[in-house]
Order: sequence, then C-alpha cells, then structure tokens
Amino acid sequence: MSVLQNTLIVLITLAGMEAFSWIIHKYLFHGPLWFIHKTHHRKQHTFFELNDIFSLAFAFAALLLMYKGREIFDYRFWIGSGISLYGIIYFIFHDGFIHNRFKSFKTSNTYLLGIRRAHKIHHKSLSKMPASEFGLLSASRKYFRK
Ligand SMILES: [Zn+2]
Ligand SMILES: [Zn+2]
Repeated sequence: MSVLQNTLIVLITLAGMEAFSWIIHKYLFHGPLWFIHKTHHRKQHTFFELNDIFSLAFAFAALLLMYKGREIFDYRFWIGSGISLYGIIYFIFHDGFIHNRFKSFKTSNTYLLGIRRAHKIHHKSLSKMPASEFGLLSASRKYFRK
C-alpha cells in the first residue's frame, strides 16, 4: 500500500468516526446507554466520569486493530491509527477546549467557537430528551455565522 492509500484510509476513518459517533451519541447514548452517558450531562463535572469508559472502549478497539495489522502495516493498522487520531482530536477538542477539563484557552476562530457553542447547546439538556447537536467536529450551519 502506498503512502497516499494509507493516508486516505486514515482520513476516511476520521470522517467515519465522526458519523459513527454522531449516530451512537444520538441513538445509543441518548437512548439505552443513557444511564452511562448521563454522567457527562450533569451540571457539575467530576474529573472522572463513567462516560469516559466510551473513550476507553474506542482506545481499546484502536489498539487492537493496530496490533493486528502491525506486521505488514496493513489497512487494520491505518484504521486503528485513524481511530486513535480521532480520539486525540476528541480529547483536545471536547475535553480540553469545550469543557476546560485542564485549563481554558481562548480563540477567535469561527469554526472552533461554532463547535463549542453547538456542544454547549447539546449540554443544555440535562435529561435524555430532547437533545440536539450530537457531532463533535460538525455542527449545524447556524453556529458558524458571526
Ligand atoms: Zn450527550
Ligand atoms: Zn460534552
């Protein structure tokens, strides 16, 4: 496999993860798995919340794929890398930038501010329903208008 093909696999995995997260966030986390995800919808955030097990599950899946594909760096390795990269972006974006889990940082970037506004709207809902804006890197267009 060429560098280009491997890069494409990583990019497609990233986009796929955003779509997949959107779907499971909406239909599982705000559905049957709400009893876990609700720990992330409390007004007061604790440093560790039960909801973090979802990140751990993704990290485990990513590592497993990378491990399986490690010998010839086949597609499994690159899909695993894509999931890991998504996890890192998620961590910086969602935990760091949106929820200030470590320390706050300032920006005037329209995209970043839009994403943060949309996710704050998602968190306005302290109950299972109704909730909107399930994406992490994507949000409704209205949030990006000045
Ligand atoms: Zn949620
Ligand atoms: Zn959140």
